[in-house]
Amino acid sequence: SVKRKPEIQAARLKLPVCGEEQVIMEAIRNNTVVIICGETGSGKTTQVPQFLYEAGFSHPDSVNPGLIGVTQPRRVAAVSMASRVSHELNVTDEVSYQIRYDTTTSKNTRIKFMTDGVLLRELAADFLLTKYSVLIIDEAHERNLNTDILIGVISRVLKLRANLSKQDREKIKPLRVVIMSATLRVTDFTQNKSLFDNPPPVIKVDARQYPVSIHFNKRTPEVDYVDEAYKKIGKIHKRLPPGGILVFLTGQQEIVNLCKKLRQRFPTLPKRASKIDVAKEKASIEAESRIETVSARNEDVEAEEIELGDSADQIEDFELPDSDEEDDSDDELGFYGEDDVPNEEEDTDAPLHVLPLYSLLPTDAQMRVFEDPPEGTRLCIVATNVAETSVTIPGIRYVVDAGKVKERQYNLGTGIQSFDVDWTSKASADQRAGRAGRTGPGHCYRLYSSAVFDNYFPQFSVPEINRMPIEGVILSMKSMYIDNVVNFPFPTPPPKPNLIKAEKILTHLGAIDRDQKRITDLGRSMATFPIIPKFAKMLIIGQQHGCLPFVIAIVSALSVGDPVLRDSDLNDLADEESDSDDENGTTDVKKMELHNIRNESVAEKERRKLTRSKYYQTQMKHAGLDPTSDIIKLLNIVGAYEYAGATQSFCEANFVRPKAMEEIRKLRRQLTNLVVANCDGVDVSIDPKMQPPSTLQLKVLRQILTAGFIDSIAVRKDYIESGGSEGSKFKSTRGVPYRVMWSDEDVFIHPSSVLYHQPAPLFVAYNEQFKSSKVWLKGVTKVEPKWL
Ligand code: ADP
Ligand code: MG
Repeated sequence: SVKRKPEIQAARLKLPVCGEEQVIMEAIRNNTVVIICGETGSGKTTQVPQFLYEAGFSHPDSVNPGLIGVTQPRRVAAVSMASRVSHELNVTDEVSYQIRYDTTTSKNTRIKFMTDGVLLRELAADFLLTKYSVLIIDEAHERNLNTDILIGVISRVLKLRANLSKQDREKIKPLRVVIMSATLRVTDFTQNKSLFDNPPPVIKVDARQYPVSIHFNKRTPEVDYVDEAYKKIGKIHKRLPPGGILVFLTGQQEIVNLCKKLRQRFPTLPKRASKIDVAKEKASIEAESRIETVSARNEDVEAEEIELGDSADQIEDFELPDSDEEDDSDDELGFYGEDDVPNEEEDTDAPLHVLPLYSLLPTDAQMRVFEDPPEGTRLCIVATNVAETSVTIPGIRYVVDAGKVKERQYNLGTGIQSFDVDWTSKASADQRAGRAGRTGPGHCYRLYSSAVFDNYFPQFSVPEINRMPIEGVILSMKSMYIDNVVNFPFPTPPPKPNLIKAEKILTHLGAIDRDQKRITDLGRSMATFPIIPKFAKMLIIGQQHGCLPFVIAIVSALSVGDPVLRDSDLNDLADEESDSDDENGTTDVKKMELHNIRNESVAEKERRKLTRSKYYQTQMKHAGLDPTSDIIKLLNIVGAYEYAGATQSFCEANFVRPKAMEEIRKLRRQLTNLVVANCDGVDVSIDPKMQPPSTLQLKVLRQILTAGFIDSIAVRKDYIESGGSEGSKFKSTRGVPYRVMWSDEDVFIHPSSVLYHQPAPLFVAYNEQFKSSKVWLKGVTKVEPKWL
């Protein structure tokens, strides 16, 4: 019944997956879950849905009338694969896609491509997924949070559907699932008893892959791999035979910058191009920068969608090299076989058809990478890891790999989530190289040395779920309507006590309700921010009395981590518990004395004391007139830093780390943009010269902090033991034991706190606890009992 065009039919038959059609279909008939592993480009995504289609799945009159669903971690893959399969099947409206903001589904749809986020949301409405007869979970090797969670949920749906269909086969049909992976690393799915009772069969498809020569750089560029990529692309383009170039960088900003440079250097259009062509080219380039109304929600989030950088941090325009530029980098481009003798004549005006590819790019601009490049031009695609396994771009012969990836990271100690650029894994570097060998033998230029590859690249990437703070993960799941997280079959499960604690924290924050443990409206808003839930909560409740700009600054500083040097960084004299007696402005006297001291070691000791005294004076200055909170002190530092013009000398004079201050600044900008995008009717902008908060605002800020740190409240031990009588007054908090919610150990306010020399409050909220000689509370704020 399928009427494919002859050329399509011929091309399909060459795909390795098509050689296994019988094996695959038999396995799917005999098992509810089947795993298919095969190299990128072997035909998994385009062909397996067609096998199912031809076998009658999704046909209204068949025994399996439900849809064929295919999930993808990325929007670009969902859209482009739907179009490709529709083209191959030679049908008009039977193959559709659905992504967050757009769908082509209709009553005629039989194969539906969608992002895994879309399917997770459908689960909320119909947990049995009754409209599907078979689901293909693609790109499982990526171990994205959404894909992992989806596989966990679907293992449950399978069992339910199987049981229900035994009772009434007419009403409920069993569901079949195919998990597809570009690598053989699937034991987390096959050997996980809580996921599937019987290990599902694994079908391995041997891919036909042309050889790819790998060329390592002799040296690894210190920072500017974008510049290095630019040079390498120029050389390939000028010297090597025809064939597309695929470049791997880490994020939007880098890609946009490199595309701009390349387009200036090697325009796509010949010098005498028609006005129409020039206008067309201009329009399509402009379409790239059109902003799609995509906000960084948990669904569909790819790391690159949330960028910490902004336009002010763009990579400096680098100089255009002269055409006869001194070639100081490795010249492996010279070492070609006889067939590959470079053009003697370096035609620097040869057009290069440069296209960006990253997931925030508008969909139609993304789709241009699949079109044939204009006659006489060479295709050059500058991509994030979207192009690693999700999409196959035809005609790529050269890969330029910076070896970097931007990934979500989580610091257990500080609770900071960040998007860091770091070396990718060996497995993913090999996937990237493989992109050059699909149409013929190819070359991969790695912009790093083999020593760096051997010694610094991890074998595999860590699953995303293990790079996320657990409260954040649980909140994400709840926002996808997955309520019972403790018994949830994660492919790589986090420890159970962590899950339980995470739910308690979320309950205290009001992100989930107490009884049902379901997400609240507040929780749903919190889930939109790339920071831990307690900080997100502060942002959301911070919209009162004009406090939001302060809250954004505070949350940014807390997320980055304390920028203040620790007094132990100053010198070794500082014993954490020793009281310093020179904090009261005797500095000038000391200074004079210093001149009179001959003995070097005594002078040294005095100098240290002086520094230390200056350090404490600075801390007290920032603490303000009513020092009740280390966090407010932090806010004052951020404000003072901006007021002073964000200079290095400010950092030195005020004992703060310049890099941390820079990061706080970037995060403030990003969070401000997200608040504007996600919170209706909120208009907040960054005012670098933020005025200090008023007395009322200070009080409100402390209440907001209390609400955010509601699971991190410490109570004076004597108050608990006396059954709530205020008892004796302590002149300072030094040596006064407190108790916190999650343990039975005495804890103490750290000497670096502004509260250390204040009368000991009954209640304090703290940002973190850490253990050295004792358990110390840091980032402390005095809490009024009536707020609790
Ligand atoms: P896999 O999912 O195993 O990585 P695909 O099914 O995506 O493989 O691709 C199989 C082959 O189909 C590719 O090698 C390519 O030749 C061809 N192909 C896929 N998409 C397109 C497209 N949009 N245009 C032309 N050819 C395509
Ligand atoms: Mg695929």
